[in-house]
Parts: sequence; structure tokens; C-alpha cells
Amino acid sequence: MNIMQSITRLSIRLILLFTVIQFLLIPETDAAEQPNFVIIFCDDLGYGDLGAFGHPTIRTPNLDRMAREGQRWTNFYVGASVCTPSRAALLTGRLPIRSGMMSAKRRVLFPDSKGGLPSSEITIAEALKSKGYATAAVGKWHLGHLPQYLPPSHGFDSYWGIPYSNDMDAQKGFPAYRNEAHRNADYSPPIEQYQVPIIHNTQVVEKPANQHTITARYADKAIDFIRSNQKKPFFVYLAHNLPHIPLFAGKEFRGKSARGIYGDVIEEIDAGVGKITTVLKDLNLDKKTLVVFTSDNGPWLPFRTHGGSAGLLREGKGSTFEGGMREPTIFWWPGTVIPKVQMELGATMDLLPTFCSLADVSTPTDRVLDGHDLSPLLLGKTTKGPRNEIFYWRSSELYAIRIGPWKAHFITQGCYGIGPKREVHESPELYHLENDPSEKYNIAENHPDVVASLVKAAEDHRNSIEPVEDQLAKR
Ligand code: MG
Repeated sequence: MNIMQSITRLSIRLILLFTVIQFLLIPETDAAEQPNFVIIFCDDLGYGDLGAFGHPTIRTPNLDRMAREGQRWTNFYVGASVCTPSRAALLTGRLPIRSGMMSAKRRVLFPDSKGGLPSSEITIAEALKSKGYATAAVGKWHLGHLPQYLPPSHGFDSYWGIPYSNDMDAQKGFPAYRNEAHRNADYSPPIEQYQVPIIHNTQVVEKPANQHTITARYADKAIDFIRSNQKKPFFVYLAHNLPHIPLFAGKEFRGKSARGIYGDVIEEIDAGVGKITTVLKDLNLDKKTLVVFTSDNGPWLPFRTHGGSAGLLREGKGSTFEGGMREPTIFWWPGTVIPKVQMELGATMDLLPTFCSLADVSTPTDRVLDGHDLSPLLLGKTTKGPRNEIFYWRSSELYAIRIGPWKAHFITQGCYGIGPKREVHESPELYHLENDPSEKYNIAENHPDVVASLVKAAEDHRNSIEPVEDQLAKR
């Protein structure tokens, strides 16, 4: 064999070897391109309740670190200002008025409700399933407690948590929570007062839920799931049922915060966030996991020190003023999400299209989606967001609309439980949210052209809503 033949043979062998190596690497490369997703969702957390968002006495070192390492979003909205419709919006990428999960008859689902998220809706979990994701729902569901509506029927491999709010199934004979809360910023009721169950998949496994330990257990369940599924792409939807009242904190946190039991609760949630991000780092998953932290609606103000703070935003839960619907939001994905304070508009409804884009999943095309893909903003490919509008629905009416910095109110009403009474404005109020984030100065008279364009945009939007069956009215 001459030298040329030897070189040719060696070359062929090397090509074969590289082909085999390449072939072996392909599945791993694909897996690396499928990021994991973790949503940590609070209940009734106010815009001003985290250190990173300006709270002076609640300590949230883990969330503050995430905000520094990732993106702190200051104009991030929910699809509704109460639990059920807000959760439907997040999981489907659609305004809840489109799925029947928002109603003029009842604000949310209750233990006597017979409705829930329709099976025709496509959730984030279902969308990701098409690319082989492992999916878990942990925490408060509130999209229907009957078996056909629980997470296993909506694309989740497993579920562990409470089916509706932690103040439901309240027992008679106990002191009124609100009275006690008004007297004592540290008050926490006996757990027996609320016979809310914990459900594992579709079975009740604990009743009443031990709410003193529930926050820590939710974080642990999420961590167990992450550990068990570390080799494949996963999606965890961790929906804490606190700081919705009644408030409960674990032994380690009780009485520790300067902000009373409300602060104890937030500090315990923050500690769980720290445990989750630490585990992601330990498993070398932090560089391929997007973690999003936000809440379902603003603070429940009638509960005084047991409710949170919307910071400089007006009103709270239930209201279509900013305090009801703008949430403290953090996106964290070290090495991928560009660290910055993000002032572009975003919404929980954007998570479905954003995750689909990052996971290379097609979004549903047979229905109206209200979400936008935020990934170019997160990855620093652009500084201009895709979203220019926010629609503020309450019950079954469009109360307000935001386009760019301008917000017009057609109807106003205060926080759920208290606050100013419902008022229909024949001539809309107009606020400039960048100059006036607290909605103090109605400048409609100075900008009739802006008012007219917002009125027209609202009318077009209303006309895009098709009537569907009211799921919240079913009982
Ligand atoms: Mg809520």
C-alpha cells in the first residue's frame, strides 16, 4: 500500500468516525435546545411587595438576586384582576372572556361550581407536550375542581395542590378572619377553619390542608419533579396559594419579618424560590431553564395589613386601575436572558407564545390568541416589544384600554371588597401611565384625539369577542 492509499484509508476512517460522533451528539444537541420552563405564580401579591420592587421592610434576597441577574419587568400585566380568569389567561394565552372563564354572574369558581376550563382550550402544558415535555402543576389550580377540569385533564403529568382559594370551605363558629386581621398584623387562624383539601392528581390526600407547611411543601414538590425529570425538557407551573388571605407561615418564618405575618409569608415564598434556583444550579440546569416569577392579581386591600401593597399603583385586587392588574415580574435565565430593567409591555398571556417560540412549538392557529412572543426582547435581539395594548376586563365588560403610554377608563371601580363604587364615564378618563403611573391626573380634556382613538380601538376589540358558554355561572 502506497502512502496515498494509506492517507485515503485514514481519511475515510476519520470521516466515518466523525459521522458516528455527530450522530451520537444529535439527540443531546436537540435536548440542549429545548429549554425548561418554571413559572412561580403568587396569589394576590402586590406590585410593591418585593424588595426588588421597592418594599422597605419585606426581605426578598432570592427574588432580588433573580431580578439583578435577569429582567425586572415594570409593565407586566395579568388578564384579569381576580384568580380564576387570571389563571385561565396565563395558561391559554387568551383573554378569559374568550374561554368563558370570566363572567358577569360570578367573579371566580367556588366549591359549588360545576364549570371549569373547557377541554377545547390549549394550555401551555398541552402545547409543550407536543415536544415531549414533562409537565407538573403544583399549588392552587382554581380552573375547576371536578376531575374533568383538573390539571391531569389539561396537559399536566401530575398535580399536587389545592383546587381553589385557601379561604374557601370556611367553617362556621370561628372568629371572622377580617375582624381578627384588622386587630392583629400577626394573626393566623387555626387551619381547621378552612376545610380546603389537597388533591394529588384527582384524589383528595389531605383535608384540611395544613396551610402552615403548604408553602414549603409546594417548593419541595417542584424540586422533586425537577430532580426526577432533569434529563428531559420540563415545565413546572408552581402556583402558591399565598399571600391570598388567610395567611399562614411555617415555623421557621413565623414572626421573623418586620412586616408582620404578610411579610413572613412573602419571605417564605422567597426562600422557596432560592431553593429552586439553587437546585437548578446544582443540577447544571440553570443555563437551560427560564424561570418566570409573577402573580395573578393585585393586593386584597380590605384586609389592611393582611393584604399587600400595590406600591405607587392605584387600587388593588378586582380593580382595573393599575394596582389590580400590573404585577411585579421577573424573568431569569442566566447566560440567555439579558439582565435589565424591562419597561416594555408584557402580559401573562404572552408566556404561551414565548415558551412555544423558545421550544420550537407552533402556536394554535384555529383561535384568537391574545399573547405575543416576548423572546426577542428577553434574548436582547430587539429593544422594542411586540405588545402595544392592554385590555382591562372586569366581569364581562371592558373597563379600560391601554395603548402605548395612554390609558382610557370607560368604567371605574375600586378594589374588590372596598374602594370607590362603579362609575360609568360617558366621557372616558384619560391617564398617561409613564408620566402618571398612579393614575392621579385625568387629562382627557387636553387630548380629545387620543381619547377618540382609544374609544375606537376598544370598540374594535369588543367586536372581536365571540359569545361562549359562561363557565363561572354553572352550579
Ligand atoms: Mg388572586
